[in-house]
Amino acid sequence: MNVLEVKQLEKIYFGKVNYTALDAVTFDIEHGDFVGIMGPSGSGKTTLLNCISTIDTPTGGSLEVEGTNPHGLSDQGLAKFRRNKLGMVFQDFNLVDTLTIKENILLPMTLDEVPIKEMSNRLKNVTQFLGITQLLDKRTFEVSGGQAQRAAIARAIIHEPSLLLADEPTGNLDTKSVKDVMSLFTSLNNNLQTTILMVTHDPYVASFCNRIIFIKDGKFHNQIHRGNHQGDFYQRIIDTLAFLGGGRDDIQ
Ligand code: ADP
Ligand code: MG
Repeated sequence: MNVLEVKQLEKIYFGKVNYTALDAVTFDIEHGDFVGIMGPSGSGKTTLLNCISTIDTPTGGSLEVEGTNPHGLSDQGLAKFRRNKLGMVFQDFNLVDTLTIKENILLPMTLDEVPIKEMSNRLKNVTQFLGITQLLDKRTFEVSGGQAQRAAIARAIIHEPSLLLADEPTGNLDTKSVKDVMSLFTSLNNNLQTTILMVTHDPYVASFCNRIIFIKDGKFHNQIHRGNHQGDFYQRIIDTLAFLGGGRDDIQ
């Protein structure tokens, strides 16, 4: 079974003038894949991710995560689905400032009433894997951007989600932290077989993916696979972005 199936997905924002942000988008993601979404600014990348994460509601088509259509669930079922099946990482980290790093990471499990012993085991494993054990008692404003993003990643993966969704996860990071976070994603994907869907405008960041799906004007445009050479893949990403148009400054 595919981890994600998106079929003819449509999102129209209704207003004085209706705007079609997603137009019949169709694609699948298998278990263990690491997929990037790219496209010019305003092409619908965030809308797509938000429909999958159920932050937003599609107006047509369907999507399934491990065979479940989250948009068909009750409110209670949906809350549980989001906490169990999905992990989410955002550009601005979305940590709670009044909590410590540890409390932030444990928050979703606290809501699910996971036994304390299991929580502390998982916390230990995840924070060792991410190299943030020494930060657990600090508050969000006492850590760097790269460290905050690692904490956000810890929070997103501690419950071993079926699908990790990331919207511009490196958008607010310095060059060194960008590399670190991408190494982490690669390691999560290779070692823990975490399935990842990531939006990025950065060709370097995208070159860590196995596959890139390009969208333009809300439509699936094409996709390319990495193969064995990251450098060659990087060049093909740049070429496709140039072909898509808008110029580099316009690609966000
Ligand atoms: P991207 O992430 O690719 O830059 P978005 O998904 O954020 O693009 O936006 C796609 C299009 O949908 C844009 O033209 C944007 O202005 C429009 N849009 C996004 N959110 C809303 C909204 N809540 N209401 C109306 N239009 C929206
Ligand atoms: Mg966006």
